[in-house]
Amino acid sequence: MVEVVGNGENEEFAKLRELVEAGESGYPSVLSTPRATALGTPYLQSPGVALIAKPQVNVGNIAGFLGGFAPELQFMQYLDDPTELPPGADLCKAAGQLCYASFAPKRTLNADAERYFANIREHGHGSVLEHANFTFVFYGVSRSVTHELVRHRAGVGVSQISQRYVSGRVLRFVERPEYQDDKELHAAFERRIDAAAAEYSRIAERLLELQKSGSEILSADARTDLRKKVQQAARSVLPNETEAPLVVTANARAWRHILEMRANPHAETEIRALAFRAYLCLRVVDPILFGDYRITALPDGTHGVETDTPKV
Ligand SMILES: Cc1cc2nc3c(=O)[nH]c(=O)nc-3n(C[C@H](O)[C@H](O)[C@H](O)COP(=O)(O)OP(=O)(O)OC[C@H]3O[C@@H](n4cnc5c(N)ncnc54)[C@H](O)[C@@H]3O)c2cc1C
Repeated sequence: MVEVVGNGENEEFAKLRELVEAGESGYPSVLSTPRATALGTPYLQSPGVALIAKPQVNVGNIAGFLGGFAPELQFMQYLDDPTELPPGADLCKAAGQLCYASFAPKRTLNADAERYFANIREHGHGSVLEHANFTFVFYGVSRSVTHELVRHRAGVGVSQISQRYVSGRVLRFVERPEYQDDKELHAAFERRIDAAAAEYSRIAERLLELQKSGSEILSADARTDLRKKVQQAARSVLPNETEAPLVVTANARAWRHILEMRANPHAETEIRALAFRAYLCLRVVDPILFGDYRITALPDGTHGVETDTPKV
């Protein structure tokens, strides 16, 4: 049973919003703090999300375009709208209004932007949402979660840590929420990641020895390629619990689809936590484009989102 607890305006959102750091800088994040086992193997227990890019918009720059129409159309008045919008909404609204040359005084003003975007969603005119891109760094996410996340292709760009290029020194792991409060499962997790990290180092050292002694299959021309030859083999022992940080850029239409698929009761718990944190940041940074979502409380204590106008 899913309980609907709010549409982003109520106490529940206010409470959850406290998770979001530095919202006032305009680039919100939800942090995740690394820990370590007694043997020093680093791991994280929740996804960290940090917004690092959003649209920068100057709609005023269309003055030359608007000024080229007959003065009686009063298109220049478009630039006098007194209500400021978040940049993403500002950009998408301008793009949408260009479609019908809605620049005259009778157009929908910025003060009615929420209604404007509700109409866009209801009519499925989602392509105007493709103009606004938002970029996150996601960390504290396991390889199994990122494998699911990168299935989203349309309107999405991904750059992910290379297990071939980086060495064991940046190796970290992610503990599933189900293990964290159970002594036995938590201890087993710590043992497992200590063993995985040690096994990785042992294999890398042995491969390096073989490489130095002239192994053909490990040979390469460039120094970085030599390193890759070792690491691409050694990574085979890394578990799904290995952290796999990535930068994800998606446009607002694609983010909405991702949130709806992943901050969803049917989604896997870890990816839902990630998607919900991304939602919180997007909701803070652009309450017009992401303000229609209601927060749902799930029986396992996690949260998701839902909307009356999915998949625009
Ligand atoms: C709960 C859950 C369980 C899942 N289980 C499995 C599973 O068992 N096995 C598995 O393989 N995957 C599984 N998936 C992944 C799922 O099938 C999708 O691959 C993933 O969610 C990406 O979504 P999308 O296909 O909508 O693609 P996106 O890239 O997010 O695309 C957004 C939309 O654009 C359109 N689009 C994108 N690409 C194309 C295209 N090539 N042609 C036409 N239209 C396109 C579609 O309308 C699509 O919905 C699961 C996902 C969820 C959320």
